[in-house]
Amino acid sequence: MALGKSTAVVIGSFALGESDRVVTFFSRQHGKIRGVARAARRIKSKFSGALELLTLGELIFFDTGRSELVRVDHFDVLRPFARVREDLERLGQAAWMAECVGRLTAERDPNVAVYGLLLRALKALEAGAPPRRVAVVFGVRLMDALGHRLRVDACVGCGRRDVFGRGPLIVDVEAGGLVCEACANAVPGLLRLGSGSVATLRRLRGLAWDEAVGMRLGSAEDELRQLLDRQVALLIGQPMRTSRFVREIERFSGERG
Ligand SMILES: [Zn+2]
Repeated sequence: MALGKSTAVVIGSFALGESDRVVTFFSRQHGKIRGVARAARRIKSKFSGALELLTLGELIFFDTGRSELVRVDHFDVLRPFARVREDLERLGQAAWMAECVGRLTAERDPNVAVYGLLLRALKALEAGAPPRRVAVVFGVRLMDALGHRLRVDACVGCGRRDVFGRGPLIVDVEAGGLVCEACANAVPGLLRLGSGSVATLRRLRGLAWDEAVGMRLGSAEDELRQLLDRQVALLIGQPMRTSRFVREIERFSGERG
């Protein structure tokens, strides 16, 4: 049985049997890892509260070699990110980010860029940056890091570059980028984005993280968030679980405010 060790973030979990928990981590060294934390749901568990969603810790596990699931031996909290979980809007966007990472990466496929991105986003949320903006900046970079960058310089249908005016632009997420009116006519139900949103997307790609998180996105924020939702849903073949949660929180916040 091999011993593994890495800093890791908890990105999901579910109950198993009477008292155990299956936890999904995104680790710096090994990428996504799923493991069983024995007796994690008992009151006197050695994990007591450490395995909460979004917690950063030092993970020690045993690789049995018999299954994809490892045995979680220790998870020592380095940074709990409790402030992110205490606020519904922050929690909603952070849970969406965790789901993106969990569903778009394969097990045992290390990606230090994705790991770093997740940590930067959690730190920004904890420091009080606007949650939806953080999610957009994170999502745009995650798509790049995983090789799913949408093309916005030319029509992905016919390759022409001189066909985009100042009006709304049409995105064919499945085809991988912008399409001109002529190419769009063949495909029903395509997303339309304001040309300002596409310009914002281009700018976000070129900025450093802190600059991007500090930039006001205006109406582009909503449109780019929708675009990301659609792109991720297409990549995983179904709508994301956390997207509905986020919409409900936003509606609730709207009614309150
Ligand atoms: Zn075209």
